[in-house]
Order: sequence, then C-alpha cells, then structure tokens
Amino acid sequence: MKLGINLSFAIKRWVEPPVWARIVRETLGLNLVQFTYDLLDPWWPESVRRTLTAQVRSAASEWDLEIESAFSGLANYCFDGLLHPDKAGREASLEWWKRAFDVAAEVGAKASGGPLGGMSVSDYSDPERRERRYLDLLDAVAELSEAAKAAGLERLQVECTPLAREIPYTVQQSQKFLKDLEGRCAVSVKLLVDIGHALYQPLYGPGARMPEWLNGLGHSIGAFHLQNTDFQSDSHWGWPDSRGLFDVAQFAHGVKTAGLQDVPAFIEIIYPFELADDLALRNITSTAVHCRREFAQEVVNQP
Ligand code: MN
Ligand code: FE
Repeated sequence: MKLGINLSFAIKRWVEPPVWARIVRETLGLNLVQFTYDLLDPWWPESVRRTLTAQVRSAASEWDLEIESAFSGLANYCFDGLLHPDKAGREASLEWWKRAFDVAAEVGAKASGGPLGGMSVSDYSDPERRERRYLDLLDAVAELSEAAKAAGLERLQVECTPLAREIPYTVQQSQKFLKDLEGRCAVSVKLLVDIGHALYQPLYGPGARMPEWLNGLGHSIGAFHLQNTDFQSDSHWGWPDSRGLFDVAQFAHGVKTAGLQDVPAFIEIIYPFELADDLALRNITSTAVHCRREFAQEVVNQP
C-alpha cells in the first residue's frame, strides 16, 4: 500500500521547504508527498516561482522525499476555474493550470491536478448552457493534456467533488467524462477520489459506500485523498477526532479487494488557521501513525 501526505497540513504554518520536509520524514515517518499549490501560487512571477521550487527540490532530496504530484488546495478551489461562466474567466483558468504544470515539473512531480471548476447556479440551471460548459471543459482538458506533456508530466489528475455543479461528481459522470476524453489527450487523465467527497451523504445518500467508487472507477483512479469525516461535510479532519467516523482499515481492505493497492493515498488534513501550532502538529502526527497502521499495515512504535 502506498501512503503519502498532501502538504495541506503545513499551510500558513510550516511553510519553509526544509521545515515541512523534516516534519514529513522525521515526525510523520513518511516519504511520499503531494505538493500543494497553497504553498506556492502558480500565478506568482516566474522568478519567484523558480527560486521557491528550487528550495522544494533541494529539501526533498535532502530528506529523501518523493514529490509524486502537485495539487490544488483551498486557494484555487475558491474560483470557478474551467467552468467559469465567462470565456475570459475560463481562459484565465487555463493559464493558471499551465503555470501549475510548470510548478509541478519544477518541484519534480510526475503529475498535476485538482478539481476542474464549478458552474454558476445560472449556467447550471439552463440545460443548453450546462451542456456547453461540459463540452468546453472536455476541450480545455484535452488542451491541458498537451501542455502537461510539454511540461514533462505523465498524468493529469482530476478530483471528483461533492457538488452537482462541478464535473465530475458521481461514478457515472466520471466514467462518461473519461470516455468522452478517450483518444483526445496527450497524457493519461486519471481521477482522484477524496473519501470525504465520495461519502458525502447529503448528496449521495445514506447508502454511499467506497466499493461503489472503487469498483466503478477501478484503474481510472490515480490517487486517493484520505481524511476523517462524519459523512455530513467535506471535513478534512485527522485522527483522533471525536466527530470522525471513517474507518481507514476497512478502506484499505476495499482498496486491496479492488486491486488498487498500487494507487497512492495521500492524507489530506486541513486545520483551522487559528488552531494552535502544537495542537496541529500533535494531530498530524497521530494521524500519520493511525494511517500507517491502518492503511499501510505498518508496525509503528509510537504512541
Ligand atoms: Mn481532496
Ligand atoms: Fe475536500
């Protein structure tokens, strides 16, 4: 089982690459990393970007970390992205993605990804405009796959989100989305399944279960996001958390049963900015221990 961590836990706290790299390796005992664009905005000027990506690369090599991919975090998710109602907004998002590919390549990642965007309420409620947005999105992803290839990446990673106005948001829509892209992309397009999205009951109903996603999407899944959740929100809690109900061992079993043991699972925990640093560090540490035990079946000699 491949367990890694998204750097979401570090944002606005352990920002310097040597600092988060040391925490990931020494404190959390992990070596597989998903970089987050919340630590380095692809819009920043190229010279700033290059200075900072060089620091990431050198910290990763010093602490023997593999930066497997780079991913959108909170910041970019606030925007409408490739589904913006205005063409100029969609074009700006295309440009953001292309810059993100450069950042991904510069930090040594093989893949870049994130949620693709969200439709406005007004576009979504008009069947014609909704279809137009979908077709334009397919074109955008095909174009982006060329840019990803040119940047030297191997994979585009699309996150499924728990909103009907975003694409893709169900197993069925994800299948259709990938089928509609078949033969159009220069690099492989894979899905990222975040368990807190996939099991969000207000949208998918009280019967939402992981095997439906694992069996329905199979090898179209390129990575997972692991978080603790009560299935009533996209919680991004860690372990322990008195509100959380997600069973990591059961998930690991499902992943194995579906033959997806080589698909990396990245712990993605988002702490409130105002939470005390020592509490966040304590929680991310116990979260890593929990997931190493329950997901990776490691024997960890730590409390
Ligand atoms: Mn996620
Ligand atoms: Fe999420």
